[in-house]
Amino acid sequence: MRCAQCKNEAEITIVHPLCRSCFLKQYETRVQRCIKKHKLFTPGDRILVAVSGGKDSLSCAHVLYTLGYPISVLHVDVGVSVCTNPRTRHVVERFCEDRGIPFYFLSFSEYLGIDPDTFFHKARRPRCATCGLLKRYVFNRFAREMGFTKLATGHCADDVARYFLKTWVSGGNESFLWLSKLKPLTPSTHPKLVARVRPLFLCLEKENYAYTKYNGIVVAGCTMCSFFLRKDSWTDILRKIEEIRPDFALSLARTLAKGFPSKDEEGTATLKECTVCGEPTEGSICTVCRIKARSVSQV
Ligand code: AMP
Ligand code: ZN
Repeated sequence: MRCAQCKNEAEITIVHPLCRSCFLKQYETRVQRCIKKHKLFTPGDRILVAVSGGKDSLSCAHVLYTLGYPISVLHVDVGVSVCTNPRTRHVVERFCEDRGIPFYFLSFSEYLGIDPDTFFHKARRPRCATCGLLKRYVFNRFAREMGFTKLATGHCADDVARYFLKTWVSGGNESFLWLSKLKPLTPSTHPKLVARVRPLFLCLEKENYAYTKYNGIVVAGCTMCSFFLRKDSWTDILRKIEEIRPDFALSLARTLAKGFPSKDEEGTATLKECTVCGEPTEGSICTVCRIKARSVSQV
């Protein structure tokens, strides 16, 4: 198969067939466009990337580094050895050393002064949910204490699509406030909250995997959350949809990134009266009249 861009031999087909160099270029260009379009960074920002050692967050750190953004990296030992362990720490630390990126490490237990096992037990919710809660808390507190102004994570289009489907089907919450989280940028809404950015919002997990592979990046994936082993039903559903529509997650993320009208704007797009028939319309001539005009002109 030929590369859709340069017509050399294609090496990878995710949405379109591409050769290795066009794939890398296209990936980096897409991330850069997302950063610019959604104003993820402003000059003077101090950026902290949370890196688990998996393909997504390592891709995030590598692409920001390659695009020239001044980043630091944080790896957190969550106290669950299948997720983080000396190997994940070593992989992330080595990645940073090789590129001269400042590396920070902390553990839930030391940083928070808790015994993770007791905490997880007392939390009375699934382990992954408790872990996510603690991570959000720790990332934000550490970033603020260290004077970072943006916190970047490796969340990508698949995460967005999964979260969207799951929340939508389970009823979400009536105000649809959860939709506002599904954006490349979550601005700070409190002096103690560091703004969060998701530079890989418009990238797929498969693309992140290929990006690390082609860049020779060593990955230490979590055996519970890994792309290949992830077993929750939404991942299966997403894979089924993608058999028919490989661009499903990307298209959904693109639509969500555009944002939704606020309650005030909703449905109040100033309606005018069609200059031809007088019926209400958003433009100056309503669609029926436009089509009518075309049909007449074709007669
Ligand atoms: P997850 O909640 O596991 O889907 O991870 C979402 C994002 O959080 C990842 O893309 C990383 O940016 C970050 N992250 C997850 N686990 C860790 C960790 N142990 N240390 C640092 N960052 C992490
Ligand atoms: Zn090519």
